[in-house]
Amino acid sequence: MLSTMQDVPLTVTRILRHGMTIHGKAQVTTWTGESEPQRRSFAEIGGRATRLANALRDELGVMDDERVATLMWNNAEHVEAYFAVPSMGAILHTLNLRLPAEQLSWIVNHAADRVIIVNGTVLPLLAPLLDDLPTVEHIIVSGAGDRAVLDGAAAEVHDYEELLARHSAAFESFAWPELDERRAALMCYTSGTTGDPKGVVFSHRSIYLHSMNVNQTESMGLTDRDTTLVVVPQFHVNAWGLPHATFMTGINMLMPDRFLQPAPLAEMIERERPSHAAAVPTIWQGLLAEVTAHPRDLSSMTRVTIGGSACPPALMEAYDKLGVRLCHAWGMTETSPLGTTSNPPAGLTEEEEWPYRITQGRFPASVEPRLVGPGGDILPWDNESAGELEVRGPWVARAYYGGAGGEELVPEEKFSPDGWLRTGDVGVISPDGYLTLTDRAKDVIKSGGEWISSVELENAIMAHPEVAEAAVVAVPDDKWGERPLATVVLKEDASVDYAALKAFLVGKVAKWQVPERWVLVESVPKTSVGKFDKKGIRKQYANGELDVTRL
Ligand code: AMP
Repeated sequence: MLSTMQDVPLTVTRILRHGMTIHGKAQVTTWTGESEPQRRSFAEIGGRATRLANALRDELGVMDDERVATLMWNNAEHVEAYFAVPSMGAILHTLNLRLPAEQLSWIVNHAADRVIIVNGTVLPLLAPLLDDLPTVEHIIVSGAGDRAVLDGAAAEVHDYEELLARHSAAFESFAWPELDERRAALMCYTSGTTGDPKGVVFSHRSIYLHSMNVNQTESMGLTDRDTTLVVVPQFHVNAWGLPHATFMTGINMLMPDRFLQPAPLAEMIERERPSHAAAVPTIWQGLLAEVTAHPRDLSSMTRVTIGGSACPPALMEAYDKLGVRLCHAWGMTETSPLGTTSNPPAGLTEEEEWPYRITQGRFPASVEPRLVGPGGDILPWDNESAGELEVRGPWVARAYYGGAGGEELVPEEKFSPDGWLRTGDVGVISPDGYLTLTDRAKDVIKSGGEWISSVELENAIMAHPEVAEAAVVAVPDDKWGERPLATVVLKEDASVDYAALKAFLVGKVAKWQVPERWVLVESVPKTSVGKFDKKGIRKQYANGELDVTRL
């Protein structure tokens, strides 16, 4: 028997219409670096998204399935593109402006982007690539920047505001199509540390369901009383779903644009008083150093969602003291990205909550996990058996984009024969469903037939009061096969010797796991999305570029 329920497609268009009407007064505030930020209501954003859709269709001729890319910071205009492009039936492609030039060109060509909307401040990055981007016919420039760098470009150049001004803001002025919810809405390439970048294509349905999940109390749990500071870039897995989730619930957004350094972030928080924020650990490390040196009022920001790489427990403790509660979350581009969030179960004291808070978190109903051991067997959830995490669910990828006319890519190392996503993350799951990651499969240190978790060592080193940051990688060792190399960044004016650091680790990790190779560095190299660049460190070591002390 079929159900008697309506079958209404879950689309981005519905989220747009809902946000701009029911939550029309909610605001997107964009930092400008001037005395006043730019403020725009959801109603205005909806109107401007409609103007953009009209302009893309009538003037640029953008039709179904064509790719409109963005090379933008987090700002109101980027939110407008987020809603206009998928709602008109085309596909939004967010480009990571921190990628090296060759990778960026490769990605634009692979996706066959026809239009690029770019912030004026990013033009110096785009202009030199244009000769190698034959599919790009139109460039739309938003905001200030030296447009002269585009002189001579084969693509037609438009001004974002002039383009919008020529078109209607009335929602009914665009013939929004009734879309199949399974159609592509948005695409985003993974940062890809090995091989070519891979395109993940999100559907209207996956975005809709993921947004509902972001809004659950178990997840970020924000309401229309909240303002969220969206530091995680809109080009990094859709800013963890926040632009869509906020339009569903009327949550105000504070957008930092290009002002991502600790000092302006601290100023933004003090002046605009967000209640929540989302970013990777390195951002919070930087902000902590900043407010330690120059105290600021962070009291509004009681909750922070932190993920993208492991959050050191010491960082959580430091923010607890400031009254800011970091909530750990795990996910990846292929999971839209939210997989787990570490809200402890009910009925516990603060002390009992701690071991739950430092896990990666609990799975929501729609993300089903399993752990697969080295021999391929499914492991129990006993918080001890470590295996590769595999997941499946309605906002989890089943393949990668194959390029124009190409077949979808389903690499064996990423997808199991029975259709689960192989995350490449290694960890354990507790009987009540909390995930603790011990490593990336490729970062685990294989020492004399035993595994050492690089993350566990990093957390133990970062708990030392004089240490600001630490990254541990595997390096070749004649006797043990591999051993850990610890790269350490000290806090300003701190001094500590390696023997003291080694002694500090004893009792925190097994004695045989304590590294004998140490190097002090000014900063740990980071990837384009702010994670420790372990491949880069291994390369520096192999090239003899690090001044390693062995003891
Ligand atoms: P990306 O697709 O660039 O977002 O990278 C996803 C990867 O980041 C995951 O597979 C994990 O290895 C890592 N990651 C994300 N969140 C966490 C977390 N909370 N703890 C540890 N690793 C994380």
